[in-house]
Amino acid sequence: FSRFGILLRHQKRANMSEMLKGHGLRYASFLHQKGYIGGQWVSAASGKTFEVTNPSNGKVIASVPDMDEHDAQMAIDAAYDAFQTWRRTTAKERAILLRKWYSLMEEHKEDLAILMTAEAGKPLVESRGEITYGSSFLEWFAEEARRIHGEVVQSPAPSKEMIFLREPIGVVSMITPWNFPNAMITRKAGAALAAGCTCVIKPAEDTPFSALAAVDLAEKAGIPPGVVNVVTASRPNTPAVGEILCTSPKVAGMSFTGSTVVGQLLYKLCSTGIKRIGLELGGNAPFIVFNGANLKSAVEGLMVAKFRNAGQACISANRILVQSGVYDQFLEQLKEAVSKQLVVGDGFDKGVNQGPIINQSQLNKVSAIVKDSVAAGAHLVTGGNPHKLGGLFYEPTILTEVTEDMPCFKEEIFGPVVAVRKFETEEEALQIANNSDRGLAAYFYSQDVSQVWRVARRLETGMIGINEGLISATEGAFGGVKQSGIGREGSRHGIDDYTNIKYICIGGI
Ligand code: NAD
Repeated sequence: FSRFGILLRHQKRANMSEMLKGHGLRYASFLHQKGYIGGQWVSAASGKTFEVTNPSNGKVIASVPDMDEHDAQMAIDAAYDAFQTWRRTTAKERAILLRKWYSLMEEHKEDLAILMTAEAGKPLVESRGEITYGSSFLEWFAEEARRIHGEVVQSPAPSKEMIFLREPIGVVSMITPWNFPNAMITRKAGAALAAGCTCVIKPAEDTPFSALAAVDLAEKAGIPPGVVNVVTASRPNTPAVGEILCTSPKVAGMSFTGSTVVGQLLYKLCSTGIKRIGLELGGNAPFIVFNGANLKSAVEGLMVAKFRNAGQACISANRILVQSGVYDQFLEQLKEAVSKQLVVGDGFDKGVNQGPIINQSQLNKVSAIVKDSVAAGAHLVTGGNPHKLGGLFYEPTILTEVTEDMPCFKEEIFGPVVAVRKFETEEEALQIANNSDRGLAAYFYSQDVSQVWRVARRLETGMIGINEGLISATEGAFGGVKQSGIGREGSRHGIDDYTNIKYICIGGI
């Protein structure tokens, strides 16, 4: 980690990273422009690259290899070879390495956050928060690694003993999104490595540098070659890479976070080889405010649940349902919070808490949702336009008089847009909330204990925040029902997808 040594060795890269150094990036080596396969930093076999831009200003940060299915196969081969040894390491050895990786990530939090703000546009304070969240999965799974226990069960016959072993499934492919470019990697890779699996990660094309920097630290922590591999690919090359990651006979499982439509595609591809699959897909979270709720805390909760990462989160509050008795009051407080608290701009600028939308196609999607909802009769209270800063910035927006058939209620907005609808009864709110093919998160605010239990039981989602807008935590079981996904990440259940139960029956006793 000698600063000067690294700067000399990576002089070319250092030039590329002038801009980032201006923001305080200390180690130019973090801006990797190679993929990582079998412990080597490599170019695409084709020599092709693609550029990654900063969504706040459109400037090119640097290029990464545009890898294809052949490069992906090399990564799978490396992970498969490494698995033969890694699976035989003790849980304690794996825990020590994961813990080291965690410590390095904490040590280099500022550099990792700077890279993230540059490529994802996230306000720096949120990027720092994500690195803390991301590294916490490595710490957590370092601890969990040593508690992956099997079972000895009661045998029905006196001459037999019955034992269940829990074994690593093998090589796991991981395809991750741009909205949490660090934590979505550590939440998967931390659990996989703890279980004794090896992995091939294909990060989102918008945010490969966060993935490469995280893996740089895995290498420095001493995680052996081939255990973690990163294949970078542009959107045009992604389907072919995705296909091999789902169908190679050497791959045992796929873990994906992203849109439901891509999740469906990967699920189908995995079905031919009956691969294990974990899917964290889109949501359409209802956020319900009942009469009698603490309105101040409900508005605070909504500001976090809606505007974190400019609304680009799968558990973002999407359909805001407010009971008639508190509707006017709630709306007034919400308008005030939106106008006073939100500062749009470059994530590196002081005080900014709303960055840009990640790319043009996402911005077009958000704009179209607002435009079409207004055309269908929604009332625009504030915002509704591209921000005067231009580029990929969008105004924080509030829509009211929304109905269930409008795009802002039917679709996952993935932008800084609050769509509010009034309701009269608890039953009506539940019917609207459950009227979705998604079931990731839900939120509601109530001070009535029996209502809390009634509503929590009936909401059809994998996660619920009650009087709380921020539910993500390493210790929490993250995942959805319906078309929001399969499996759970984080918590002690996060290991399950990466292990098989092997049943052993010993006879003749
Ligand atoms: P996406 O699902 O297209 O991309 C997520 C990841 O999947 C990226 O790494 C991408 O390269 C990869 N991918 C895309 N097409 C693929 C294919 N054919 N084969 C293999 N991998 C493929 O998501 P997006 O386009 O970045 O965003 C679109 C929408 O998805 C958003 O508006 C939002 O609704 C949803 N989304 C959800 C999450 C989440 O956390 N659940 C994250 C990102 C996006």
